[in-house]
Amino acid sequence: MIRYERPDPPEDFQDKSAAVLDDLCKYIREWRGPLETATLPFDRKFWSTYTCAFEKAQHWKCGYCERHISRRTRDLEHYAPKAEVTVLSPASVRTEAPGGKPTGTPPALCRQPGYWWLAYCWENWLIACKDCNQYWKLNLFPVRDDNHPDCSLKPETSGFDLNGAEPLLLNPFFGPDPEDALEFERSGGVLPGGDSPHGPETIRTCGLNRTSLVRRRGRLADHIALLCHLAVRSRSRPAEFGAILSNLANWSRPGAEHAAVARGLLRARVYPITDPEITSATRALCQRVQAAKRKDDRAALFAGVQAVNHLGAEHLPFAPTVQKVAEAELRLSWQTLARKPAAAPTLRTSARERRRAASADTSSSVTP
Ligand SMILES: [Zn+2]
Repeated sequence: MIRYERPDPPEDFQDKSAAVLDDLCKYIREWRGPLETATLPFDRKFWSTYTCAFEKAQHWKCGYCERHISRRTRDLEHYAPKAEVTVLSPASVRTEAPGGKPTGTPPALCRQPGYWWLAYCWENWLIACKDCNQYWKLNLFPVRDDNHPDCSLKPETSGFDLNGAEPLLLNPFFGPDPEDALEFERSGGVLPGGDSPHGPETIRTCGLNRTSLVRRRGRLADHIALLCHLAVRSRSRPAEFGAILSNLANWSRPGAEHAAVARGLLRARVYPITDPEITSATRALCQRVQAAKRKDDRAALFAGVQAVNHLGAEHLPFAPTVQKVAEAELRLSWQTLARKPAAAPTLRTSARERRRAASADTSSSVTP
């Protein structure tokens, strides 16, 4: 899991969500009988209208397991379940059967209905893959001390109000940073990071150690570990170090599948990276860009600019240095560079820069 920036709701969202929630409240008020016997009439079409905003914000990845998703393999997930709340017994151990479904003791019913007043709440939504949503997380929602409120009563306030419950399930948009609460092993397994209960509860709730995920992450970790090894060995050679580091940065970008694995290995095996190191590496990448421009090699120019972009991506701790150096070297604003490749042909090089790029070209033996 990694953190994403929550998308903003459309301007008319509050009015529309208030209207459908009013309909639900009216249904509940008029229900004659115990509320747990009611099948609440949720408006499924309502939340499907807004799914695309979350797909984009999460870079088409599941908010829990970081697998890539498509329209066929994703759901709009309610973080706090709306229809009912279930719990796993402390002794329950679920493993993955062929086909992806869990085996073991299924969750038991705890509350019915669930946090129904959050069914149309923007802050309660995220995108999850069908495996996470329909097989593993289901209506589980671990909270501190198992202290779920009386879900027949809607809180007085509007918005994201859990009526006193303190969630222990990590969320990609708020709360404890998933990158602090989860640690990925070289084998592809995941362990809790630190003492926070959010890590173990999330791993258990979402089945983050299911076999298929561990295998996928393990294969990726093999590749990333090799790149980390090469990066460390090339630290004294800026052009080579820059190229490998940029490659690693690409694997750790928000849109990369299981980016948390690459980020964890980078932190453990390559960081810290000093300011002079990242400055030299960025300069070396920029010199390649200038050389490609001088030779009118569009493919090399595109690759070079992309490499600089990867290295200066916002989520990396050294991004400000990379951006500053790249702006100075390429004489373009970072905003323009980040719009590559469209702006690549507009890169300007002076005669002095061309001479410097040519010199760097002949002295470098690096291949990306
Ligand atoms: Zn998932």
